Amino acid sequence: MDVSSLTIRKIQKGLTDKKFSCEDLTKTYLGNIQKTDKEINAFITVFDKQAVEEARRVDGLISKGKKLLALEGVPLAIKDNMLVSGQKCTAGSKILENYVAPYDATVVKKIKKQGGIILGKTNLDEFAMGASGEYSAYGVTKNPHSSEHVPGGSSSGSAAAVSADMCPVALGSDTAGSVRYPSSLCGVVGMKPTYGAVSRCGLIAMASSLDQIGPIAKNVEDAEILFNEIKGKDSMDATSYEQLQEISKKIDIKNLRIGVVKECLRDGIQKEIIDITKASIDKLEKQGAKIETVSLPHIEYGIACYYIIMPAEASSNLARYDGVKFGKTKEAKDLLNTYLETRGEFFGKEVKRRIMLGTYCLSAGYYDSYYLKAQKVIVKIKEDFDNIFKKVDLLLTPTSPFLPFKLGERLTDPLSMYMADLLTVPANLAGLPAISVPAGSVGKLPVGIQFMAPQYEEERIFKIAKFFETL
Ligand code: GLN
Repeated sequence: MDVSSLTIRKIQKGLTDKKFSCEDLTKTYLGNIQKTDKEINAFITVFDKQAVEEARRVDGLISKGKKLLALEGVPLAIKDNMLVSGQKCTAGSKILENYVAPYDATVVKKIKKQGGIILGKTNLDEFAMGASGEYSAYGVTKNPHSSEHVPGGSSSGSAAAVSADMCPVALGSDTAGSVRYPSSLCGVVGMKPTYGAVSRCGLIAMASSLDQIGPIAKNVEDAEILFNEIKGKDSMDATSYEQLQEISKKIDIKNLRIGVVKECLRDGIQKEIIDITKASIDKLEKQGAKIETVSLPHIEYGIACYYIIMPAEASSNLARYDGVKFGKTKEAKDLLNTYLETRGEFFGKEVKRRIMLGTYCLSAGYYDSYYLKAQKVIVKIKEDFDNIFKKVDLLLTPTSPFLPFKLGERLTDPLSMYMADLLTVPANLAGLPAISVPAGSVGKLPVGIQFMAPQYEEERIFKIAKFFETL
């Protein structure tokens, strides 16, 4: 069975038309995982048995003529920083190697309620910190398009799994680009919702003021279906809200005003990426879109702000992993040494770097000059977006400043790794919805472009992305 072109709609149609059974479909994906994942390493845990049992349940429903729920019979994968009750949740870290989730994340609860079949948990950079998929304690993930190149991170496993036909859709989390960036490098669609559109309950926190869960899929429609099933207010996450569809202005694709951000197409962005972005702009212009070059003068401070806010929040969130409350413990002579040795041994190098940076930024005397200052700059970045969205409906930029790089190439230079977030981090700082869609390739390496919209305007980015997909 060839699953390479299957989408959610096609899967459900195939199931109800009895073209294939859900058991066969699920076993095909599990077979693909078994075959392909030795090389790619996209999964940390695979739920073979439970997935097949669940598929049989769906087959039973179909044979009784029951109508399928929104995700019923659809196999999918979940990044291993979201809790699935009774299953291990490692967040890509040694420190959580033996941690078993005591409850379902809200997104997982919603997926189960709609009949989705969870195939397993995907690999990620430790605690979602990283841009290459190389910082996991469970091994490096490779790019399915070229095994010498990185798949992008931190949702490396979810993007690689969708790209390599190990599942049709998956969930990732995005704090600075971790859904969009690997999606761009793996040639798939990745979407980050407005901050608060999706509940973070049961997502292992990295930087709580920026984290959002988002869908990764082969096409925009699937990303939209999955988003619609996971979104919504949740009493367990005070920052979540109910989305009102009606608020989205009716937009006419043919008359769209699209802003091309000039700071995102200048020196420093690889030429091949600029060329593909310009070709995408031309295509949209030919269809009647009004293209305007716009400026967001403060986004050049995005990376600097992020690498203060994120480590500060992460250092506080990660304080709970002390060998007492969660995960692994390194027995030592007293409590203090238990903390020191557990954290010293089981956190990776990059995570430790960020904890140190974060505690430094938050320490007495430095708080004002780092954390507070960064928060003030974020206000400026938000104002830039507010002003621009008075003139244009959407913004267009490349997703990544450079092509997928070679495995190992940026491992010894953290700053060059941080540059991967250059074009995706502004949407997180401003809380905006954004999507990365495939726009071309250089040789076998995929390249994506990004659309950003004002807060709560998910509908607008899905519309434009679906339209762009047809060009
Ligand atoms: N590259 C970003 C980082 O390392 C990605 C973070 C994210 O979106 N989870 O922090």
